[in-house]
Amino acid sequence: MARVDLDGNPIEPMKICIIGAGGFIGSHLCDKLMAETPHTVLAVDVYSDKIKHLLEPPPGQGGAHPWAGRIQFHRLNIKHDSRLEGLIKMSELTINLAAICTPADYNTRPLDTIYSNFVDAFPVVKYCSENTKRLIHFSTCEVYGKTIGSFLPKDHPLRQVLLRPVSHFFYILQIQKAGTRFCVLKEDASPCIFGPIEKQRWSYACAKQLIERLMYAEGAENGLDFTIVRPFNWIGPRMDFIPGIDGPCEGIPRVLACFSNNLLRREPLKLVDGGQSQRTFVYIKDAIEAVLLMIENPARANGQIFNVGNPNNEVTVKQLAEMMTEVYSKVSGEPLLKVHTIDVSSKEFYGEGYDDSDKRILDMTIINKQLGWSPKTLLWDLLESTLTYQHRTYAQAIRRTMVKPIAS
Ligand code: NAD
Ligand code: UDP
Repeated sequence: MARVDLDGNPIEPMKICIIGAGGFIGSHLCDKLMAETPHTVLAVDVYSDKIKHLLEPPPGQGGAHPWAGRIQFHRLNIKHDSRLEGLIKMSELTINLAAICTPADYNTRPLDTIYSNFVDAFPVVKYCSENTKRLIHFSTCEVYGKTIGSFLPKDHPLRQVLLRPVSHFFYILQIQKAGTRFCVLKEDASPCIFGPIEKQRWSYACAKQLIERLMYAEGAENGLDFTIVRPFNWIGPRMDFIPGIDGPCEGIPRVLACFSNNLLRREPLKLVDGGQSQRTFVYIKDAIEAVLLMIENPARANGQIFNVGNPNNEVTVKQLAEMMTEVYSKVSGEPLLKVHTIDVSSKEFYGEGYDDSDKRILDMTIINKQLGWSPKTLLWDLLESTLTYQHRTYAQAIRRTMVKPIAS
């Protein structure tokens, strides 16, 4: 049966250039495009480990994948490779995921962060605009920065209402009472509130915001067909790395991998500044459905900025740590530790210049209206499948490193 878009028109196979295809989101997007669509992918990255299963023939069967010939890997660094423009010209659509996007880098490698998120993304926008090609660019929810509520005095009654996570039903009622404009983040209405320049944490958000503004201006003045995606904490298998196993020993990945690493090594989870910040987590497989809708419904996605997340999965980082501890014990069969969390200061954990987003609740009006998308998976369920994957993938390797004799 012919595949049709949301307006009932047949979907033609297209060639898509995915920059950053070898990363966490890129690998899941490639999985989806290969398994469920007829599209062809030019996968651009400096790494290919996370999409190796798509590129190499299936082990032991002597055959080929059903998608063989529809995915081509191009190992290149977009900072300095003249092949990039050719790949964009060859494709109907470019999706740019390439970025330095781990908070531990924002304050310690601010120059690399700004170059990666603005300077290196700039030619991609230019090539798409000059060659009249569609662009889907990955920005971040961090462009909203901190909420207005976080600037209210600590004992202000409105702050108590705005910043306290409670059950979803009461939460909605309370937010409505307090006025959504103070804390729900809306693409076409909310301001972007960053900390001062010496808080270099905001180098990432600021670079992402400038590239968003550049695309918007290219759209307005030169007719660029762009879509901006603002992911709100997408998590799942293959996110980041486990330090000392498939990444540097001293590296600090995002919170899912940090906590997974602690659980795998049976050490307490570190709560930065008490783990009071709040996040909404969405399962990568739900979020990828939204990206596919954008790809296949250009008339509904062009010129739009989309928040993509799950407002029903809001927790403090401390609550996330507690839930992950419980879920991991269930999937691994290992008993709980007596002390399963410890507090660390952000200065100790991330160094000078760290700052944090206090709360990220997304408004979903635009994505509901344009694409009819909403997320399905509850936090417990997505943690259960993700931690099952982490345990299966890493537990043995961790055990081996922990029993290794020290070289004399
Ligand atoms: P990721 O780090 O797993 O993937 C990024 C990929 O880009 C990596 O494979 C990396 O090798 C590649 N890359 C970086 N610089 C490159 C270069 N110069 N040349 C070629 N390849 C390069 O990150 P992710 O979680 O998949 O995020 C993808 C995008 O989504 C990023 O732009 C990020 O800012 C944005 N985002 C993600 C989240 C999330 O929840 N995962 C949240 C906010 C924003
Ligand atoms: N965090 C933490 N312990 C860790 C890693 C992260 O308490 O081991 C906190 C971090 O300070 C932030 C939240 O978890 O408040 C989410 O961090 P992440 O790196 O996933 O990225 P962010 O959502 O800030 O972009």
